[in-house]
Amino acid sequence: MVGSTARAGARSLVVAGGGIPGLALALALKQAHGAALTVTICDPGLKAGNARQRGRAYAVAAGGRHLFERLGIWERIAGARQPITDMVVSDSRLADPIRPVFLTFSQEGAAHDAGAKGAGEPAPFAHMVEAEPLVEALIAAAGAAGIVLEPTGIRRAEPERGAIRAILDDGRVLRASLVVAADGARSRLREAARIGWVGWRYPQSGIVATIAHERDHGGRAYEHFLPGGPFAMLPLAPGGALGHRASIVWTEREADVPALLGGGEAEVLAEVERRFTPNLGRIALEAGPSAHPLAFGIARSFRAERLALLGDAAHVIHPLAGQGLNLALTSAAALAEAVTEALRLGMDPGGPEVLRAYERARRFDTLAMAAATDGLNRLFSNDVLPVRLARDFGLGLVDRMPGLKRFFIDEAAGLRGPQPRLMRGEAL
Ligand SMILES: Cc1cc2nc3c(=O)[nH]c(=O)nc-3n(C[C@H](O)[C@H](O)[C@H](O)COP(=O)(O)OP(=O)(O)OC[C@H]3O[C@@H](n4cnc5c(N)ncnc54)[C@H](O)[C@@H]3O)c2cc1C
Repeated sequence: MVGSTARAGARSLVVAGGGIPGLALALALKQAHGAALTVTICDPGLKAGNARQRGRAYAVAAGGRHLFERLGIWERIAGARQPITDMVVSDSRLADPIRPVFLTFSQEGAAHDAGAKGAGEPAPFAHMVEAEPLVEALIAAAGAAGIVLEPTGIRRAEPERGAIRAILDDGRVLRASLVVAADGARSRLREAARIGWVGWRYPQSGIVATIAHERDHGGRAYEHFLPGGPFAMLPLAPGGALGHRASIVWTEREADVPALLGGGEAEVLAEVERRFTPNLGRIALEAGPSAHPLAFGIARSFRAERLALLGDAAHVIHPLAGQGLNLALTSAAALAEAVTEALRLGMDPGGPEVLRAYERARRFDTLAMAAATDGLNRLFSNDVLPVRLARDFGLGLVDRMPGLKRFFIDEAAGLRGPQPRLMRGEAL
């Protein structure tokens, strides 16, 4: 069957991929332009709705919070977000009896976050947000705003005169001014557009789980650098079987994962306790564990004719700094801004100027973050003594220099450098 949601050349946007960045971009543009812009999201995963994100949680930096506030999503997920008020970083071997603390971050570092609601008050530099309620709120808001939700994949996109055709898995064709490929790391649209990819697999897996515990975590996050990779314990909003919960993001050598996770719940919890330091009383598994292969990758370009890459389709980075989604949200805000400027000037929203502006705004920042996370993983995921001494000296130095520490906090919070309007809490 061949159909069409828009006449060739009409103002319309098709987003392939209803993950968090794809949904956020679609919603930002639909809210800003209403009936002047037709927006369709195609994703076979929409059949499962928000359930596909069950058990996942993300550290959302200050910029992402401003974006979700603007979209009216933040208040809808009040029970599913937890401020990270401070963070403790250590570097040790697994068998060490204590994990010496080399670096601490606290919320006063982001006190000058001018974009925050209630600006002037100390603002946490990040929140842990549960993905399932976040996606549920985004899908509900998308439906209410008049976005067309198509639970079908897109096979490829073909530019034609003045428009682009998105060919759906069921054979239908949607015509649009611009197609956004937000279809994940193995993006079919990126491949069909023959955009190159530079990347490699890490010999590591990221294990994700939710832990229930008896005592309050007080909003404190922990990141222990261990020879197999970083082990992070990130505070979640209260709830669960024991009253309190934390999200675990635990990197291990891929070859060790079957042995670590192959036993029952008691064995997995014993491994967690060997790495976990806070005394949170009794702990239990609430969700997971699930293991994800880890990779690095970046597209050679973020655009083709009438096609923009967004999120993991454009870049995949190591999760040790929790920045993959944050980068994608900044890109969604930058693309929404470029499209909006074109629409306000009566220009083509899928034209080359829009796509060039988007790439200019995002490429350097993305490359810098990708290189930094790759470098940190190589520096910390080993047990070579001189390397350990040098990195611990470096961590100790940062801890004693408030200016430098603030620099790192603001960088991670997305408060440094020119940011798109939505990430600063301003309207498009
Ligand atoms: C262990 C781990 C922990 C992480 N923790 C954090 C964190 O704390 N903070 C952070 O910022 N980032 C984190 N990340 C990174 C983050 O998960 C990703 O960057 C983010 O989820 C990317 O979203 P995405 O929508 O681009 O891709 P995905 O989430 O992969 O979504 C892609 C969507 O596209 C759909 N799709 C696929 N093919 C097609 C097609 N042909 N047509 C239409 N739709 C299609 C899929 O169904 C899916 O819904 C972590 C990553 C890992 C592995």
